[in-house]
Amino acid sequence: MPVRTPNRGTHLPCRDKAMTMERFRSTSSVTGTDINYYFVCHRKLWLFSRGLQMEHTSDTVYTGKVVDENSYSREDKHVDIDGVINIDWIDKDSGVIHEVKKSNSVEKAHEMQVLFYIWYLKCKGVDGITGEIDYPLLKQKTAVELTQVKREELETAMADIERIISQALPPQRINRTFCKKCSYFELCWTNT
Ligand code: SF4
Repeated sequence: MPVRTPNRGTHLPCRDKAMTMERFRSTSSVTGTDINYYFVCHRKLWLFSRGLQMEHTSDTVYTGKVVDENSYSREDKHVDIDGVINIDWIDKDSGVIHEVKKSNSVEKAHEMQVLFYIWYLKCKGVDGITGEIDYPLLKQKTAVELTQVKREELETAMADIERIISQALPPQRINRTFCKKCSYFELCWTNT
């Protein structure tokens, strides 16, 4: 089992005071992957937080104003910023970030992941960004916008993620059909 230490301890100084809610501190170690996993399975989030990395993720990077300060190369796809978010690609003219999902269903986790990307960029001083999730298998696109309501939902989730990953023991398994496709399936369900 490959083991990877997630990017913990990357603290984000939020430059946009409006983004800072009283109940949520201005620094966080939450990543885009954490957000996705949180909305899939809390146990999966916890296992990932412990460095159990069983899925390969690409870390190629992109160029751009913010990216120039934080990324590692000048590719025009797969924008890795601070090891916290990894955007599939950005349309610099329209200010739309794109996330491509090969899933055959539209999922809440996808939306919240892209909302986190927009939130993170806003905290770094990049305004006017919207998102779009592309589902090539469904031939469908979903627009994503960080409204006040969505922002509050996202920040509540971020606080809950911090709570979950600080727990000594993993959350209980969930018995869902997608467990069989989960990278942690053997870990959760073998020899039980
Ligand atoms: S196999 Fe199921 S219970 Fe285990 S981490 Fe994956 S989704 Fe969660």
